[in-house]
Amino acid sequence: MRDYSISHQLICAQQRRVTHVQIRPTREPQIRDNRGWEFENPLKSGFVAILGRPNVGKSTLLNALTGEKVAIVSTKPQTTRNRIVGVVEVPARKGVHPAAQIVFVDTPGVHKPGSHLDRRMLQEVYEALETRDLVLVLMDATRRVQLEAASNPETTAPTRKSAHGAWASEDEFLFGLIRNLDCPVFLVLTKIDLVPKDHLLPLIDSLTHHYGFAQVIPVSARKRDGLDLLVRKIVEVLPVGERYYPKEQYTDQPQRFMVAELIRERILAETGEEVPYASAVVIERFEEAEPPAPPRKKGQAPARLPLTRIAAAIYCEREGQKAILIGKGGSKLKEIGTGARRQIESLLGTRVYLELRVIVEPNWRESRSFVESLNWRNQLEKLAEDQVTEKPGGAEE
Ligand code: GDP
Repeated sequence: MRDYSISHQLICAQQRRVTHVQIRPTREPQIRDNRGWEFENPLKSGFVAILGRPNVGKSTLLNALTGEKVAIVSTKPQTTRNRIVGVVEVPARKGVHPAAQIVFVDTPGVHKPGSHLDRRMLQEVYEALETRDLVLVLMDATRRVQLEAASNPETTAPTRKSAHGAWASEDEFLFGLIRNLDCPVFLVLTKIDLVPKDHLLPLIDSLTHHYGFAQVIPVSARKRDGLDLLVRKIVEVLPVGERYYPKEQYTDQPQRFMVAELIRERILAETGEEVPYASAVVIERFEEAEPPAPPRKKGQAPARLPLTRIAAAIYCEREGQKAILIGKGGSKLKEIGTGARRQIESLLGTRVYLELRVIVEPNWRESRSFVESLNWRNQLEKLAEDQVTEKPGGAEE
C-alpha cells in the first residue's frame, strides 16, 4: 500500500495553504514533439470554484473532470459537506492552449442556512470563493426549463407560480454570492442529456442575454458531453503559473476522510427521510495494511491482498434513527457495511475489515464543537498534534 504519512499530508503550498494526499498511480509520460511551442506557452494554473444549488450535479461533474471518484454522489440534496479539491492536468494542445493544472473546488450546495451545520457548509462556500481565479455556477438545465415555463403567465397554474417563487428566491441567494466577484464567472448548464435540444437553445440564449456570465456552457457529466469545451474555456482564462499540486495528485482529501465519505454515501443510498441528513461518520481506527508479500514463484497461487482494518462510528440524532440505521437483526447496518467495504477496497487497493457502530448524539447539527470536529481539516490538525506530542517509541514521561 502507498505510504501517505500525516506530515506528508500537511505539506502546505505557501499561497493557498494546500494540504495534499491522494496521488494517482504514475502513468507513462507522453512523448511530445512540440517542446519549442510549450517553451513559448508556459503552464497555466488556477483555482476554479464550483458553485450551485444542492443536487445540480456538482460532485458528478468533478468526478467526470478528474476521472476519479473524488466526491460522493447521491440523488438526495446536500450531500457534500466540506469543500473538496479535484485536480485536473490538461495536456498542451498545439496551437490551441498550453498545458494547465486546474484545481477544482467543489462546494456544499448553496441554500439558505437553518442549522449550525448549514452555516458551516456556507462558510465552506465563502472560503472557496476567497481563493479562486474563476467561478463555475452550475444550474440544472431540467429545472431551469421548468422555471422558464413557470414564469410564462399564460401557461402557469397557481401552484407552479409558488414553486417558481421559492426557486427564484433560492437562485437570487446564489446570485447574491457571486454578484461582486472580480473574477470571470461561467454558467454551466448541467444534465443536458435530459433536456430536448429545442428547449435548450432558447434557454442558453435567454440566460446569456439576462446575466453577465462570461460564458454559458451546456454539459452532461453523465454522457461526458461538453466537458472538452468547458476545460478549453477554463484554460483560456487561467493565469500563467506554477503547479499547486504534484502532477500525479488528484485530490487533497486524506484517505481516511474519503473512507468516511464512502460510508456516508451508502447511508444516503440505503436510508430515507431524515436519516441521511442527521448522520455523520467518524473514523475511529484506521490501521494501514502491511506492504504486499513478494510475488510467489511460477505456478504458485497469487499472494492475497493485504488487509486494512477500519472502525467507524455513525452518529445520528435520535433513537428512532439509530433503529433505522441498524435495521431488523442488524440487517441494514450489514448492508451499509458490505456496500461501503467494496468501494473502500477499490479505493485502497487492499482487502478491508470494516467495523461499524451507531451512536446517538442528540441535536448534533446544532452543536458548534461537534460540527467543527467533523471537518477533516480539523481532524488532520488534531492527528498531527497527537503525533507531535507522542514520544518516540511510545515512551512515557
Ligand atoms: P450535487 O449535490 O450538486 O453534488 O449533485 P450530484 O453530483 O450528487 O448529483 C445529483 C443527482 O443528479 C445524482 O443522482 C446524479 O446521478 C444526477 N446527475 C448529475 N449529473 C448528471 C447528468 O449529467 N445527467 C443526468 N441524467 N443526471 C446527472
